[in-house]
Amino acid sequence: MVPIQMVDLKRQYAKIKPQVDAAILDVLESTAFINGGPVQSFAQELQQYLGVKHVIPCANGTDALQIALMALGLQPGDEIITPSFTFIATAEVIAMLQLKPVFVDVNPQTFCLDVAQVEKAITSRTKAIVPVHLYGHSTDMEPLMAIAAQHGIYVIEDNAQAIGGTYTYKDGTVKKNGAMGHIGCTSFFPSKNLGCYGDGGAIFTNDDALANQLKMVANHGQSARYYHDVVGCNSRLDTVQAAILRIKLPLLDEYIKARRAVADAYDAGFAGIPQITTPYRAPYSYHVFHQYTLQLNGIDRNALQQYLQEKQVPAMIYYPVPAHQQKMFANFGGAAFHLPNTDALTTKVISLPIHTEMDRDQLDHIIASVKSFIK
Ligand SMILES: *Cc1c(COP(=O)(O)O)cnc(C)c1O
Repeated sequence: MVPIQMVDLKRQYAKIKPQVDAAILDVLESTAFINGGPVQSFAQELQQYLGVKHVIPCANGTDALQIALMALGLQPGDEIITPSFTFIATAEVIAMLQLKPVFVDVNPQTFCLDVAQVEKAITSRTKAIVPVHLYGHSTDMEPLMAIAAQHGIYVIEDNAQAIGGTYTYKDGTVKKNGAMGHIGCTSFFPSKNLGCYGDGGAIFTNDDALANQLKMVANHGQSARYYHDVVGCNSRLDTVQAAILRIKLPLLDEYIKARRAVADAYDAGFAGIPQITTPYRAPYSYHVFHQYTLQLNGIDRNALQQYLQEKQVPAMIYYPVPAHQQKMFANFGGAAFHLPNTDALTTKVISLPIHTEMDRDQLDHIIASVKSFIK
């Protein structure tokens, strides 16, 4: 059996190596390392794929979130609603910009922001909501957008884990994750569903004025060459990375299918085991399984992880400490937030290997290993 990895980038690369190598060589020969042709081509192709009006490539997913918030012209102390059960970047950029993260609990089934709890967290200083489509499952965007519209606040989707996934509205309309809020953000970190071979990110919007502002912020606040209207930053997608992403974007739907097949196999393998809750799939969400995350009921998680490691099965805890409990937010009153679902999930979740190259014998071994620990 091929050794099992959380994400097998090597075997994925092997299948596209000739195209990727040629694309990288083209960039080297062009020497257009910054904002070369592939950057704009990729932005256009992603725009079409997502069904959005503007895609602004940038250096990574954290920058995408930061630039999105900077483009809104907020004041220090303005409040941003976000889940605590997420990768730290989501909340970190809020604090870095001297805005106030207001943590709202997640739905224990979807792992995403509990939209029913958002309204009571809104104050006169609330300026934006940053939902996270965690593990590849969509946040319930239709009611969330309705609440935001009612209060005149922005929605910035953190779509780093759910690119290619879709959300279905009550009237049957289907939209891609990241294309529903005022701004969408993603990351092309190598292990993400659409990963490049280094750092990369992008910001999406359907709003022309916001697009201009986002482009300006990402490029030193520049409105015309050497005229700088606002304080911005320098955040660009590398030409080499864009060239690689142009090869991988047409494969994204296939990659998602491969991930969903792994999830289906796990679901079948773990069906009817009371100590294990397999991931929920809300009817509105086409889940893209960035992670396959179990909730353990009355099982010693550390012991399971240790046992799996002995069987050469990697498993990870995403995330062992939620944002509001991190030292980073001690001065923001982090620990004062009462988030029982988040705190409970933090102790119960474990993510199993999931990627585009998983074999049946690897899957059988993982499922059998988990089961043999429980029985
Ligand atoms: C990966 C990730 C980010 C950050 O992306 P980087 O490209 O690593 O900066 C932000 N939010 C979430 C939910 C992520 O998973």
